[in-house]
Formats: sequence, structure tokens, C-alpha cells
Amino acid sequence: MKLYFASGNEHKKIEMEKLLEGYSLVLPKEEGFAFDPIENGSSFIENAIIKAEALYSIVKAPCIADDSGLCVDAFNGKPGIHTARYGEDVFGRKLDDREKYMFLLKNMENIENRRAEFVCAICLILDENRRYIIQESVNGHISRKPEGTTGFGYDPVFYNDDAGMISACLAQGEKNRFSHRGKAARIIKDLLDKEFKNGKE
Ligand code: IMP
Repeated sequence: MKLYFASGNEHKKIEMEKLLEGYSLVLPKEEGFAFDPIENGSSFIENAIIKAEALYSIVKAPCIADDSGLCVDAFNGKPGIHTARYGEDVFGRKLDDREKYMFLLKNMENIENRRAEFVCAICLILDENRRYIIQESVNGHISRKPEGTTGFGYDPVFYNDDAGMISACLAQGEKNRFSHRGKAARIIKDLLDKEFKNGKE
């Protein structure tokens, strides 16, 4: 069963495909069309809906989109929906993953309250009139130094409280068990299975 995924991020695709086992995720670039909608929503949910709607209007077939980010207590929930662009306003250019999390560590150098949450909203569009939106989160802490090599983005500096370790130290399957994306995607998978497997399995 083919499902369009409104993303350009290969790492996310790998995680999501494991979570939505039995569904084959297709990125817009794999079908050769440009896809870069303006994510100007004011919440994770709004941005996930913007991406899913934009893709659905092109492919007219079942689509999912996710929007995620890191909310740091000491920064009143920031960078939040701006996590992907963190530091760009200061450096005047796009930062790579390592530069972003090193910039976060620098900004938190003298901050004792390290509490943070990873949030993920997923929007599923089945057809014109059937749309679902789920938002989930996981609690954690920003570490003092990076550790680990698995995952992507801020994983080397995010200590996942439920897992009891830094996200980038978790094996891939393990990360999905404890991640914001894993929690949200399992709910979406139940919806998909009800729709497409019709209780046959
Ligand atoms: P977006 O959801 O593509 O807008 O990007 C969200 C931002 O949060 C990106 O900078 C990601 O690297 C980061 N991010 C989202 N999910 C994760 C995760 O599971 N681990 C680490 N970083 C993440």
C-alpha cells in the first residue's frame, strides 16, 4: 500500500517506514516533483496540515505529513516550530545538524533547568473529506555534551526520560519505541490498518 509522505528528510522517512510497517512511503522527490510548501502555521498541527494539504492537492491519494520540534522549558518552549531553522537568524545561513545542537548547548551553557520536550504532529489525509491529526510528545532533558551516533537532528543532545538515555545512543527500533514520532505514528498506523486492512489481519 502506497502512502505519500510530505517530507524531503530521508532520516524521517526511514523512521516512519519502520513505524508504518506494511505501507510504502513515497517522498515527492522520488516521483520527481518539487515540493516545498511555505510552513507559515503558528503550531505543529497547523504546519502538518499545511504540508499534508499541499501534497494531497497534487497527488489526490492518501498522504501523511509530520511537523516536529524541540520545546525547551528555559526558552519558554522555543525553538518549537522553528527548530529546523534554529540559529539561522544569528548566523545568517542554514546550519547543519551538528552546528544546530552545538549552538543550543552554547545557549544553555549557564542554564540549570535542562527540561525539554520533543513534539510531533502528524496529519493523515485519506480523501477529500477524511482527515486526521495527532500530536504527541516525549519528555527529556538537554545534555551537557553530545553523545551517540544513531538517529538525526538533535538526538545527540536529547536525553529521553522514558528511555533513560540520550536518543542518539538508542538503536533505531528502540528510538521509535520512545520517540514523539513513534507515539504519534502508532496511532496513525491503527487508523490506516482499520481503513486498508479492514480487520483482516
Ligand atoms: P521539521 O519537522 O522537518 O520541520 O523539522 C523539525 C526539526 O526538529 C529538525 O531540525 C529536526 O532535525 C528536529 N527533529 C525532529 N524530530 C527529531 C528527532 O526525532 N530527533 C532529533 N531531532 C529531531
